[in-house]
Amino acid sequence: MLIFPDAYAKNVHAINYEKLYNRGIRYVIFDVDNTLISYDEDLPNDAVFNLIDRIRKIGFEVFYVSNNKHRRISRFCKDLEGQYMASAKKPYPFIVKSWLRHHTINRKNTVIIGDQLMTDVLFSKFLGIRSILVLPVSLKDMWYTKPNRKIENFLLKFDKRLVNHPYR
Ligand SMILES: [Mg+2]
Repeated sequence: MLIFPDAYAKNVHAINYEKLYNRGIRYVIFDVDNTLISYDEDLPNDAVFNLIDRIRKIGFEVFYVSNNKHRRISRFCKDLEGQYMASAKKPYPFIVKSWLRHHTINRKNTVIIGDQLMTDVLFSKFLGIRSILVLPVSLKDMWYTKPNRKIENFLLKFDKRLVNHPYR
């Protein structure tokens, strides 16, 4: 189906980034909330720092694209030193498209990693970029995410790849 991600993973740490690099991927675009940290955290934890460090050493350029406010995302990204965009209005691609124009980002060399079908994955589809859907870090969601989760849970029942998949 049009809405499904290219792949699923249990979390951001369970992804084989070396394999992605060998396939020609050079840019990783991360969602922040419930993908890298929970809503209860403000700053990257050690696991996130280690992950980003490892990904950079492989040779990736890392970006952070979030619908959350600038104050939270700038604080989160400060010590990670990556480029970020807050209030990105995912799944709509318009804001990010102009921001990404300076980079040669396309389906062949980029992956979007996020925890939401209705924002991150749909966003990736609009941009024509491949995507990996991860399980949310925490079950706690913002109030505006809850209806999207219901749609997500319904739609994912139709993806045959998820039968006995660890993502579930
Ligand atoms: Mg998220």
